[in-house]
Amino acid sequence: MKANFDIVVAGAGPAGLAAAHAAASGGLSVAVIDDNPRAGGQIWRQGPHAKKPAALSRMLGDLIRNPNVTSYQATRISLLADAREMIVDCAEHGGMSISFARLVIATGARERLLPFDGWTLPGVTGAGGLQALIKGGMPVRGERVVLAGSGPLLIAALATARAAGARVLAVVEQAPWRAVLPFGLSLAATPSKLGQALRLTRGFTDTRYWTGSVLTRALGNERVEGAIIRRGGRDITLACDRIAGGYGLVPNVALAQMAGCALASGAVAVDEGQRTSVQNVWAAGECTGIGGTELARVEGRIAGLAASGQAVSASDVRERERWRRFARRAAHAFELGASARAWPSAETIVCRCEDVAFGDVAAHASWREAKLQTRCGMGPCQGRVCGAALETYFGWDAALPRPPLVPMRIGALLQAREHDDARL
Ligand SMILES: Cc1cc2nc3c(=O)[nH]c(=O)nc-3n(C[C@H](O)[C@H](O)[C@H](O)COP(=O)(O)OP(=O)(O)OC[C@H]3O[C@@H](n4cnc5c(N)ncnc54)[C@H](O)[C@@H]3O)c2cc1C
Repeated sequence: MKANFDIVVAGAGPAGLAAAHAAASGGLSVAVIDDNPRAGGQIWRQGPHAKKPAALSRMLGDLIRNPNVTSYQATRISLLADAREMIVDCAEHGGMSISFARLVIATGARERLLPFDGWTLPGVTGAGGLQALIKGGMPVRGERVVLAGSGPLLIAALATARAAGARVLAVVEQAPWRAVLPFGLSLAATPSKLGQALRLTRGFTDTRYWTGSVLTRALGNERVEGAIIRRGGRDITLACDRIAGGYGLVPNVALAQMAGCALASGAVAVDEGQRTSVQNVWAAGECTGIGGTELARVEGRIAGLAASGQAVSASDVRERERWRRFARRAAHAFELGASARAWPSAETIVCRCEDVAFGDVAAHASWREAKLQTRCGMGPCQGRVCGAALETYFGWDAALPRPPLVPMRIGALLQAREHDDARL
């Protein structure tokens, strides 16, 4: 199948939906493409155990009613044939070639998972991963959970796990009190964030919030049975059924890299109108820097307006600046300290796809050399997990993604090629 649109928006999270909404208001044809079965991205992830937020319902309602907008869910963008054409694998239509005049990239972020002894045991997930599993219907009622890592996502995961009936034993935060407290007080400057924090931490008093602490080991044989936490120079052991964690988020820049967009500090570089270094490509949301849902939405709106040739209002620009200031405060408060960046043991698996131990990778001087010699980052996830960890430990830049970006069914690839002579 082949399709053609004025504007394609990659990603249906808050940024992508806002971009599609703004772009379609200019009368152009717009396609929104997302790999999840339902729109919403990470924070508005839909599922049997997730209530649809009002903001998402409103936005989706508007988009569904707009005849200029086509939505492709459960559709992975696997490769860009060139700056005006992409190949996707769609659950409904199979392999498709989609061409466009302009592209808005809103591919969001990923969790930064740093390996520790035992992290490959069943029962260990990312904090956002645990949320996704719970929203998707996984039961955790009565389970003892330890959340560990850094940043506000741990608090969001705490609220989700508690609402699903789990007993969260501790939230282990690597940042020290002297950083977390001023950040908490600064929320007064953003009342919506303060309200969100109060809602998420309601009934929090019986949960330990251990700052300046790191989880160093998961215990267990067949699955997780406990966690060892380094706190104040001593090790504390907690018996638990589940560990979920993550050290903040990293921008998901793979599609933008494939489009040839320049990066700055690991995020897609954009100008005032959210335009990237590639002439017909705009970017918005967490692929351009971690900043939360409000920033993602206003950036999406600006990108959608700019990409469709409409004027951007001064109030949108001011709002973006306000949320960028909030993002800078959060980044400063939860900056990774030495204990979080400490290397795991040489035996710890760092690449879960290819079973490569940290010591084998650390023996090499670059990401490329480590890949060639150890197969680290060459499994199905293509370094999406270990790449961020190795960047944290060694400062290695993630390699340019190779097509296909995400695993694609061969039948779908052939199907897309039947209708298209794209360079595959
Ligand atoms: C795992 C996780 C959980 C989170 N949970 C929370 C939370 O509970 N509360 C909170 O305040 N913030 C949460 N965040 C932060 C949240 O991501 C942002 O606040 C906000 O959702 C960013 O919006 P966005 O539109 O930039 O990206 P996202 O919401 O991440 O949307 C990007 C979308 O693009 C899709 N995509 C990416 N690549 C492709 C591709 N090649 N083909 C097709 N589709 C693609 C993704 O699947 C996703 O649906 C979470 C982040 C992560 C990574």
